[in-house]
Amino acid sequence: MAAQTMDQLVSLCKRRGFIFPGSEIYGGLQGAFDYGPLGVELKNNLKQLWWRTNVYERDDMEGLDAAILMNKLTWRYSGHEETFVDPMVDCRHCKGRFRADHIKGKCPNCGSTDLTEPRPFNMMFKTQIGPLPDPESYSYLRPETAQGIFVNFKNVLDSTNRKLPFGIAQIGKAFRNEITPRNFIFRVRELEQMEIEYFVRPGDDEAAHKQWVETRVNWWVNTCGLDRADVEEYHVPAGELAHYSKATVDLMFRFPIGMEELEGIANRTDFDLGSHTADQEKLKLTAKVAPNPDSIARLSYFDHTTNQHIVPFVIEPSAGVDRGTLAVLTSAYEEQQLDKGDVRTVLHLKPALAPIKVAVLPLKKNHDGIVGLAKNIKRTLQASGEMRSVYDDTAAIGKLYRRQDEVGTPFCVTVDFQSLEDQTVTVRDRDTMAQERIAVPDLQPYFRERLR
Ligand code: ATP
Repeated sequence: MAAQTMDQLVSLCKRRGFIFPGSEIYGGLQGAFDYGPLGVELKNNLKQLWWRTNVYERDDMEGLDAAILMNKLTWRYSGHEETFVDPMVDCRHCKGRFRADHIKGKCPNCGSTDLTEPRPFNMMFKTQIGPLPDPESYSYLRPETAQGIFVNFKNVLDSTNRKLPFGIAQIGKAFRNEITPRNFIFRVRELEQMEIEYFVRPGDDEAAHKQWVETRVNWWVNTCGLDRADVEEYHVPAGELAHYSKATVDLMFRFPIGMEELEGIANRTDFDLGSHTADQEKLKLTAKVAPNPDSIARLSYFDHTTNQHIVPFVIEPSAGVDRGTLAVLTSAYEEQQLDKGDVRTVLHLKPALAPIKVAVLPLKKNHDGIVGLAKNIKRTLQASGEMRSVYDDTAAIGKLYRRQDEVGTPFCVTVDFQSLEDQTVTVRDRDTMAQERIAVPDLQPYFRERLR
């Protein structure tokens, strides 16, 4: 099981309406993709599962949805203006431009070794705020959702009366002007992130970091269906850590392009809360942060046990929604070789992730009784609000099954002549292809139990 090449996924995604190249009719836009009718369902399901697990099923988490546009000072004090850079090199021969750490000494386009020295390239998209082209009226599209959480730390704390440890979870768009966006939705310029900032007492950070790594691996494997053997932990060496990080563990997944980062789990220490705080000196920060004359805030926590203000340490599990979607598609994909060179493509998606939960198919499309009952079943299932269902009568039954297998629909309901006599239908399981007869009134509870 699992997709072997990116082309298998790109082709399925385009053909069946999961993911399209952005602005395709104008020749596309590198690093931008549009999620189609099935893609938006899959992506929403992934985000909902993440929200459910991290916000609803825990007692120590609050949600947030902060603005994408932020005061530019945020990006100055977060360190991004200065350090959110990738090393860029140019090929003097073919004029290609690459990320220095992604190439092995020579130009991947033309093979020339005549390359410029690497120079830093800031990946934030600059944008003008307001109608006047004043040099000071600018900010950036956020390159990570995290800063929206840090600047709201006090607001959330004061409005919820949380005690340490607790976390704030957020899902949202982020933008990175990647030098070379590539590999389908793996590296894009407009991306979506699911981020948690988990605040702990200084000193409790290392244990919390370890715990989050375990929690997140388990989520990808048990809830999203990734194979444990395809997920690895990469402990980022000290010299490669981001400017805010004391320790980072990247969760790597076996994408069709190889083992690559799916999620980063960083110990951001007190760096961010500290650097957005005005009177840092009194707070005994451990991180080295630049003095902040512009902030009006003290992003600290009053510890009633010691009667002191402390700046919590932060553990940040940061996952990409697009990379998550790609990982889920990769691991769910299977091409089964059948007789006579026939191939059955199946997406073994966890039912909770499947874009369509139930397809209702009439055995005869010209029979009013069968069609009427099938449409009725579809309407009833859909009206429950729990399971996206479709009706399809545009091909013979074998072909209809294949269509649903290919997009990961876990169940097909087939209405036949017997259904008209005894009000039972056939339910076919995508993975085992086993069929059983179920009474129509029992369908809803039957699916409810199996779709969780
Ligand atoms: P990389 O080393 O691959 O550039 P990163 O270490 O810069 O990634 P983080 O800053 O840790 O990534 O971002 C957290 C998560 O956001 C990543 O694990 C990934 O899932 C996602 N992500 C980051 N950049 C992109 C991108 N350009 N396209 C898609 N997803 C991304």
